[in-house]
Amino acid sequence: MKNEHQIIWENCLKIIKDNISYQSYKTWFEPINPLKLSNNILTIQVPSQFFYEWIEEHYISLIKKALRKELGANAKLEYSIIIDNSMYNKPYTVNIPTSNKNATKNPPISMPLNINRTRNNEIPNPFIIPGLKKIKIQSQLNESYTFDNFVEGDCNRLARSASFAVADNPGKTAFNPLLLYSNVGLGKTHLAHAIGLHVKNKFPDKIVLYVSTEQFINQFIDSVRNNNQNDFVNFYQMIDVLIIDDIEFLVGKNKTQDVFFHIFNHLHQKGKQLVITSDKPPVEMKGIVPRLLSRFKWGLAADLQKPDLETRIAILKKHLYNDGIEIPDDVIEYLAYSISTNVRELEGALISIVAQSSLNKKPITIDLAKEMVKKFVKNTTKEISIDYIQKIVFEYFNLPVSLINSKTRKREIVQARQLTMFFSKKFTKSSLASIGLHCGNKNHATVLHACRTINDLVDTNKQFKSHVDNIEKKIKD
Ligand code: ADP
Ligand code: MG
Repeated sequence: MKNEHQIIWENCLKIIKDNISYQSYKTWFEPINPLKLSNNILTIQVPSQFFYEWIEEHYISLIKKALRKELGANAKLEYSIIIDNSMYNKPYTVNIPTSNKNATKNPPISMPLNINRTRNNEIPNPFIIPGLKKIKIQSQLNESYTFDNFVEGDCNRLARSASFAVADNPGKTAFNPLLLYSNVGLGKTHLAHAIGLHVKNKFPDKIVLYVSTEQFINQFIDSVRNNNQNDFVNFYQMIDVLIIDDIEFLVGKNKTQDVFFHIFNHLHQKGKQLVITSDKPPVEMKGIVPRLLSRFKWGLAADLQKPDLETRIAILKKHLYNDGIEIPDDVIEYLAYSISTNVRELEGALISIVAQSSLNKKPITIDLAKEMVKKFVKNTTKEISIDYIQKIVFEYFNLPVSLINSKTRKREIVQARQLTMFFSKKFTKSSLASIGLHCGNKNHATVLHACRTINDLVDTNKQFKSHVDNIEKKIKD
């Protein structure tokens, strides 16, 4: 016979299942165990801290809805988290109530349910268990990101030549790991693929793998869930050239850092090549454990800067040449002149001009370019950093930014910090852990709490809402 808590959870699952993709359901909900129901509090057991964070971040509104439907407005949720200190120790559990204390009191759900959101995050698992003599793995390389297609300028010369040296002689140069860092849209991912493509060309027998850090994390979680961590580690230890993109996503993910540390050491010792990209140089990486950070400093860290005007023009021309498109030089120059900070945006503007012209059968003229740039540059979502948000919020309240780290409980400062967390969650892709670290060294639960508090205030306090709207405008300007 099933117990009440099991039945209630099963009914919740039915609702949840209907609202998310099959893959997400399997990944995040199948491993959950309902434990008990008392005083309208349902306790569910989740396999790890990371699971708990993920669920709180992505699925709490949905769970809330389902639970309320089953148990009424007073329903509450409590997590029991299996904590696993080291990778091999016996797990124990801790209970924590959902940080969303107001969830059931405050019916309007503040975060909109975005049912399809997780779909984009799901990447097919290229995970192949070794065993066969001749294994073939998909390197996940983008054929168009070659060295040939990469335009060299003063802004990227060191990074490009180091990348080429590594690709030409993987594992045999002093650049191991090779760490490429820059702001977004300046060519890290392009160069990382170029290395992989060149190696595959020159050394067809070498096993090359490009993997995004998010994908790496997801695979690791899967392996924990399926109890095949050894296969996961073995798989990565077979790689000859491991390229891991956007390592900043490891921030706060200590267990994944642990396992990456082991893989890193193994590969490095065997003379295999590691290529890492990041949005920051190692010295500025917060939330990466010191032993891993020190490894990142072993090889070479090379940065990519914003390209100068000439390089931007050359990049556009290369693009047009590859696509067999011709447009007048003055239009190219105008574009290169108007968009200076991000190559991805530059290319985006170019593509939209070409698209507009063919759609409306208009010739590509400088006027069309002006029109598009006006639209494009204004509509484009510029990358907003946590630091930038801090600056805007604290300036708005006439407070020195340094106060974000202060221990004071003064309301205005606490609130400014909470607003910073709230907007960082809204406008950046940073994890809760990373936002917390950058906002006064707090943990993810504090960030979640901050977001909820701000949402509640916005719902209930008109004046506060107008402040929030004003700040949002400033951030987006
Ligand atoms: P990041 O990984 O640093 O965010 P990407 O490598 O994704 O940036 O680059 C964004 C876009 O700009 C890609 O389409 C890439 O091909 C292009 N790009 C960046 N730098 C160059 C360059 N020097 N030459 C040619 N294309 C470039
Ligand atoms: Mg990239």
